[in-house]
Amino acid sequence: MAALSDKHVVVTGGGKGIGASIADEMNRLGARITLMGRTESALHAREKQLERATSVQVDVTDEEAVQAGFDNAVACFGPVDILVNNAGAAYSSPFARIDSDNWEQTLAVNLGGVFYCSRQVLDGMLEADWGRIVNIASTAGLTGYAYVSAYCAAKHGVIGLTRSLALELASTGITVNAICPGYTNTDLVAEAITRIMDKTGMTREETEARLKSVNPQHRFIEPEEVAAAVAWLCLPGSESITGQSIPIAGGEVM
Ligand code: NAP
Repeated sequence: MAALSDKHVVVTGGGKGIGASIADEMNRLGARITLMGRTESALHAREKQLERATSVQVDVTDEEAVQAGFDNAVACFGPVDILVNNAGAAYSSPFARIDSDNWEQTLAVNLGGVFYCSRQVLDGMLEADWGRIVNIASTAGLTGYAYVSAYCAAKHGVIGLTRSLALELASTGITVNAICPGYTNTDLVAEAITRIMDKTGMTREETEARLKSVNPQHRFIEPEEVAAAVAWLCLPGSESITGQSIPIAGGEVM
C-alpha cells in the first residue's frame, strides 16, 4: 500500500510550479489530493494528471472563499490530513516605492493565506490527533534581501507563525513546519529574470548567473527537490520534526 493512501492532502497554489510538483509527489505516494488556486484552467489541467484529485477555485486572500473551498474539499475527500500552504507571490521594488496596495497584497497572499487556510484544517486534525501543516516559506523568511522587503516581511511572518503554532500543537499528533526554498526553477523566477533584464539591460545569461551565484551550488533548485522535502515531513518517521524551517537552497543560508 502506498505510504499516504489514507491521507487527504490540500495543496494551495497547486496548479503550477512548486505546488504542482508537490501534488505529483503526493500522488505518487497514493494520497487523495485537493488543488486550490485562482486559475481554474490550470487546476483542471493538473487535476487530470493525478489519480485521485479534485480542485477548487480559491483566492487564499479571501476568507469566505477559503472557507467555502475547504468545505468543498472535505465534502469530496473527507477531513484534511495534510495541508501544504504553498500559494504565494513575490513582487520586487525598492522600499521607498512600495505602495500600500502592494504591501497589503504581498502580506495577504503570503501570510494571510497561511492563517486562513490553517484555521480551516485544525479542528479535523485535532479530532484525528494527526496532521501535517507544511508552509512553503523561502530563504527570504530566514534572511533579508534587497528590493523584496514586503515579501521578506511576509515570509519571516510565516516562519514565526510556524514556530508558534508548532509549540501550541506539540502535545498533539500534529506537526507544523516550513520549507524554505532558494531560487527555484518556476514562473516566479522566470518573471523575476524578465523584470531584472528590463530594468538593468543585462542579458538573460548574466541575470541567471547573478541569481544562481547566491546559491553555493551555483544553480536553481528544481521544484521536485522542494516536493521531496515536503513529502519527507509527512511520511512515517517525521513525528518529532516540528517548528522547523528547512532551507532547500544549496547551502545559501546556514
Ligand atoms: P508560481 O509558479 O508563480 O506559482 C504560484 C502559485 O500560487 C500558483 O499556483 C498561483 O495560482 C498560486 N497563487 C498565487 N496567488 C494566489 C492566491 N491569491 N490565491 C490562491 N493561489 C494563489 O510560483 P512558485 O515558485 O511555484 O511558488 C510557490 C511558493 O514557493 C510560493 O509561496 C513562493 O513564495 C515560494 N517560493 C518560491 C521560490 C522560487 O524561487 N520559485 C523560492 C522560495 C519560495 P493562481 O495564480 O492561479 O492563483
